[in-house]
Amino acid sequence: MFKLPNLPYDYDALGKYISKDIMYLHHSKHHQSYVDKLNAAVTGVSDIQGKSLEGLISDLDAIPANIQTAVRNHGGGHYNHSLFWQWMSPDGGGEPSGDLALVIINKYGSFQAFVDEFSAKSLAVFGSGWVWLQPDMQIISTANQDTPIMQGLEAPLLGLDVWEHAYYLDYKNKRDDYIAAWWNVVNWDFVASRLTK
Ligand code: MN
Repeated sequence: MFKLPNLPYDYDALGKYISKDIMYLHHSKHHQSYVDKLNAAVTGVSDIQGKSLEGLISDLDAIPANIQTAVRNHGGGHYNHSLFWQWMSPDGGGEPSGDLALVIINKYGSFQAFVDEFSAKSLAVFGSGWVWLQPDMQIISTANQDTPIMQGLEAPLLGLDVWEHAYYLDYKNKRDDYIAAWWNVVNWDFVASRLTK
């Protein structure tokens, strides 16, 4: 059975940037629902028992057709959110350093140019989805709870949830304000740890 991971900080830890109300709803309700519905889908399906979450969602063709959509949506939701909590920190924000800073600047010219492009792509997602920084420094987006490893791509270094549930309580329809605030909590140490893997 899959389990909801604990947040690595308190619900109110991200302060004015992402409120306690949003964090509580997003983690304890939305993420919990992905976990519950994933478990409901895979329970009793013998030929996929023992597979890891990554194993399930990176090979959707191997999932029985009647639960493939559920595993895609809820497995993707569980995977994406389990990472998303770690991509934020009350000690986050600022700029990356070391090798991560070098590869970003090598690709985009400056850290700010990277932020601008990632933000523009996040604003441009129509409807619900995610925006990702990949290990090859490409910025890509996916719809719904799709995730790069479903598409045969590498696991993302960084990702931003642009579903309305991620920001509506605090920011209403102003996704651009949410994106601007989110940079203040990005956990660059965690992003850098994924680059070196
Ligand atoms: Mn979400």
